[in-house]
Amino acid sequence: MSARGVDYLEVRGLTVDFDGFKAIDGVDLTLIEGELHFLIGPNGAGKTTLVDALTGLVRGTGLARYDNHDLLTLKSHQVVRAGVGRTFQTATVFDELSVLQNLDIADGLHRSAWRLGLPRRKVSDRVEKALATIGLDRLRDRPAGVLAHGQKQWLEIGMLLVQDAKVMLLDEPVAGMSAEERKETGALLKRIGAARTIVVIEHDMEFVRQFADKVTVMHAGKVLTEGTVAEIQADARVQEVYLGRTTDAVNSDPDAVAAEASGEVD
Ligand code: ADP
Ligand code: MG
Repeated sequence: MSARGVDYLEVRGLTVDFDGFKAIDGVDLTLIEGELHFLIGPNGAGKTTLVDALTGLVRGTGLARYDNHDLLTLKSHQVVRAGVGRTFQTATVFDELSVLQNLDIADGLHRSAWRLGLPRRKVSDRVEKALATIGLDRLRDRPAGVLAHGQKQWLEIGMLLVQDAKVMLLDEPVAGMSAEERKETGALLKRIGAARTIVVIEHDMEFVRQFADKVTVMHAGKVLTEGTVAEIQADARVQEVYLGRTTDAVNSDPDAVAAEASGEVD
């Protein structure tokens, strides 16, 4: 347990077996409220599958304890109701509907089923608040399809806010974003992260360096190591996994890695 607060989402021995291939192999992970937790690792490490398993999209064994639930026993819609939301590598907003309508659909969760889809004069405070938080107020009546790539990801995060997700699992939200969009996204995650548990999957180490409180490195379905950015960058096994085997490098310049490991660079 951290000094910062209670353990929030506790994953123990999580395993996902695809016909004998263990995409996730005995993963332990403790996610704490208020910590911006990054999940990194080469392609195929199992990051997306981990999120899929926690959100009822693939079957996992082990335990994922959150708020008196074992998430591994829940169906997708029950996971959402339990307060756990996720985004996808490709944004899944409704392009033809307005920004506001997209958020309103997410708000449907709070309405009784028979009212879903009925026109309403006014959107809820939850929707208004989310709109302001993600900074898309100005674009509220525009079709989501015209939004820039970064804005679509913010809209997805807004939909999670409307659903009142206390745990947010974000699968490569800043991939393809401009430097400016990344900065804004980092600031948004800091803003909404204080009272939430946010996990961000990301490759770009510059972004990780700027915003991560804690980093878990995955490799071949297992947790390779976990720690602060400085700790994982100084870890020879992490350098080996990235530098030796893939192109999406933790740090593509071996000299810089060596310098950082010896403390020459901050
Ligand atoms: P990451 O998100 O870290 O890049 P993934 O979780 O997408 O990795 O994939 C982990 C491994 O599991 C990969 O080897 C991938 O090919 C495999 N995998 C993912 N989904 C399936 C599936 N539905 N059936 C079989 N293998 C899968
Ligand atoms: Mg992935």
